Amino acid sequence: MSSPFNQRANSALVNIPLQDALQAATGKFANQRAHAFESTAAPLALRAKAREIRRKTFDEIDKHLETLFTNLQNLGVHVHSAPDADSAKRIVLEIARKHNVETVVKSKSMASEEIHLNQALEAAGITPYETDLGEWILQLANETPSHLVAPAIHKTLKQVQDLFRAKVDPNAGSDPQELTSIAREKLRTEFLRAGMGISGVNFAVAESGTLCLVTNEGNGRLVTTLPKVHVAIMGFEKVVPTLRDTLTLLSVLPRSATGQKLTSYFTMLTGPRRENEADGPDEVHLLLLDGGRSRHLGTPFQEAFHCIRCGACQNACPVFQTVGGHTYDSVYGGPIGSILSPMLRGLEVSGELPAASSLCGACMDACPVFVDIPRMLLEMREARTVKKNNALMERFSFRMLGMVMRKPFVWETGFKLGSVFSRFLNAKVAAWLPGPLGAWAQGRELPRIAKKSFRTRWREKKRRGVDSSSAANGVSQADSPDAIIEKTHHALELAHGLSHGHIDCPDGPLPEINVPDTVVRFATEFEAVANPALQPSSIDDIREYVLNMAAKWKEYPVAISDGLPVEVAGWLMEEGFDVISPSIDGDNRDAIARCGIGITGCDWAIAETGSIVLRSGPGHPRLHSLLPETHLALVPANNILPHISSLGPELESIFKQEEGHSASCVNIITGPSRSADIALTLIKGVHGPRDVFAIIVPDVLIARSQ
Ligand code: SF4
Repeated sequence: MSSPFNQRANSALVNIPLQDALQAATGKFANQRAHAFESTAAPLALRAKAREIRRKTFDEIDKHLETLFTNLQNLGVHVHSAPDADSAKRIVLEIARKHNVETVVKSKSMASEEIHLNQALEAAGITPYETDLGEWILQLANETPSHLVAPAIHKTLKQVQDLFRAKVDPNAGSDPQELTSIAREKLRTEFLRAGMGISGVNFAVAESGTLCLVTNEGNGRLVTTLPKVHVAIMGFEKVVPTLRDTLTLLSVLPRSATGQKLTSYFTMLTGPRRENEADGPDEVHLLLLDGGRSRHLGTPFQEAFHCIRCGACQNACPVFQTVGGHTYDSVYGGPIGSILSPMLRGLEVSGELPAASSLCGACMDACPVFVDIPRMLLEMREARTVKKNNALMERFSFRMLGMVMRKPFVWETGFKLGSVFSRFLNAKVAAWLPGPLGAWAQGRELPRIAKKSFRTRWREKKRRGVDSSSAANGVSQADSPDAIIEKTHHALELAHGLSHGHIDCPDGPLPEINVPDTVVRFATEFEAVANPALQPSSIDDIREYVLNMAAKWKEYPVAISDGLPVEVAGWLMEEGFDVISPSIDGDNRDAIARCGIGITGCDWAIAETGSIVLRSGPGHPRLHSLLPETHLALVPANNILPHISSLGPELESIFKQEEGHSASCVNIITGPSRSADIALTLIKGVHGPRDVFAIIVPDVLIARSQ
């Protein structure tokens, strides 16, 4: 009888819309990923460094966890630990009851999926809203995610439209932009009134107690800013020792996941809202979920915890590409899921998953931190075989094979017989055979055995006098040394070192791309992700630009942060605009939500990615760059840093405990809020601003305006 996995796979194989969606999505992601590393100076070295960080973290995971907890508690974060799903759910419900929470907004969290938190909340009379567009679609459809970063990858546009018509708006059209706007409007109301926000964690930085989220839509920022209580749920594998390590991992995660240099938002949360900050949660909880993890520390499967959940192995896997995520019947599908699921749920429940692999190694090639998935799949298979203790047939077969392979004469005779036999036995015929051979042949091609073995052809070549050492290396004698070097160089360039994982981590700092002029590079990169940046030559240029932009949102108020490099509020008030300044009394959320534009300064910018970095603080609300339809940033030219890594020392000065943790939140913003969760169509303005603009203000104009 066919196994449950095979039954699900068979259904997936005949599901034509699913097959189309899978091919389109996995192909697109894999292609984008292949190009994303071209924008780094040394892709292999970067990935080797990322791998080293993950490996070293687990050498002292206990120490890093202790540091993390101490720092979180010093910041006023409540730290909980849950050995299993039931205790995790109990803790979340207790927090919710204490604050009389009626609705919860959630940003994507695999750990909360793992414990089926939504069902527990609903049973307790609390309404959870998934706010990631893909997750919300699945909540409406009562389905589970099928991909780590694109949860609704399996849904076609028509299916989403039908769902919206049935559950949200009977007049919903078929335009992904329109469907996204419906979701934005519906969920904006829930964000503004929710009593609690629940999120996952991408990285938890031990040295500073910072919880980091990597998102594109802006829902992660809203979930962790608007509700008065924020609960973050994670497993211990999310711990990263330092802020600088985190920036290295950030350089590989979005590239591997969606092919972006950076996602729209990288949010670093360090404790609850400070007294002098206008917004952010008053109470923050971190819930550490064990859920079966700790029993695998120190085992051959510990390496699975190095995974940073980018989903690249899923896109690269021929099995996943063919059967999709739901076939794995687990939160974690695909190659890494075939290891994680049996680890967390037990071999009895998910033991057939490690067999769902061709062991081609594409997963490890794609993995940004070189997790050795094929090795663990093999070890997991072995563990299952030993556990089953009923693999007599398997043991007998391998013993026979071993005997044959040790005797060249028997092997060659068997090969010749097999070659003749295989001419008559094709897959269709074999599928009718009884027993394991028939089951194996179902759905597989049966390769025909070559007429001549390798050894026979080798002997023939030798007799003809071909240089055996060249032939063995696959090198034609016609190739000159230069041609060979050129060929090798080209192959490496093509592969970006993706075909093996054996490069050593380089000593010292990683090579960086050359950024001779930070302003020019920032302007180029900003235009690529958002809009052309204004490079003014006079204060009047800035005035004209700001007033023209505000005029586009004439009927709406303008939210303006304090301490801009050029004070623009006066110009706007002179022209009759309703200007909303940072509140010292609450977060002013309803007023800011009505704004057409939010105007902020910029603490730092990053040239290589076109990113704007904003830290929260007095006069610098998080919501000004988040709730209005458009965000305009005034970027001081001398605050533009060349690389992501250049931000490390700046973050340390903000977040390190001895510095007094002066900000509760820092956001790296790279372009507008975006999603491709509906039929892979890129839509801007899902939950955050639909557009982002920048004015690069040179020092001379800053001095002149003061
Ligand atoms: S195993 Fe590697 S490729 Fe797969 S999701 Fe994890 S980090 Fe990404």
